[in-house]
Amino acid sequence: MLTNYGYKDGSGEYFITIDTEKCTGCQKCVAICPAQLFEVVADPFDPLAEREIAVVREEHRKKLKYSCVPCKPSGERLPLPCVQACQPQAISHSW
Ligand code: SF4
Ligand code: SF4
Repeated sequence: MLTNYGYKDGSGEYFITIDTEKCTGCQKCVAICPAQLFEVVADPFDPLAEREIAVVREEHRKKLKYSCVPCKPSGERLPLPCVQACQPQAISHSW
């Protein structure tokens, strides 16, 4: 399942998508993100699955454009640490 965290405003769409089927809960995104955007929790979408997956922390979901400034200082599409660290390629960004 593709889980989308973010919002859109007058300047664009700011979403981080995590593919829960691909996510292994490895925590590499948690370790590498300079803004502590991610946490790994018991799967909130499938409690019976008894596994852990990455989610975007609640406090960042309405301000992703600003939270990700450390990796996107000029708004360019640069290689992103979280995307590069995720071996199963479960993370994508809309901007
Ligand atoms: S790095 Fe990828 S696979 Fe690992 S917890 Fe984060 S989203 Fe899931
Ligand atoms: S782009 Fe940078 S700040 Fe944004 S989620 Fe990825 S690692 Fe964290």
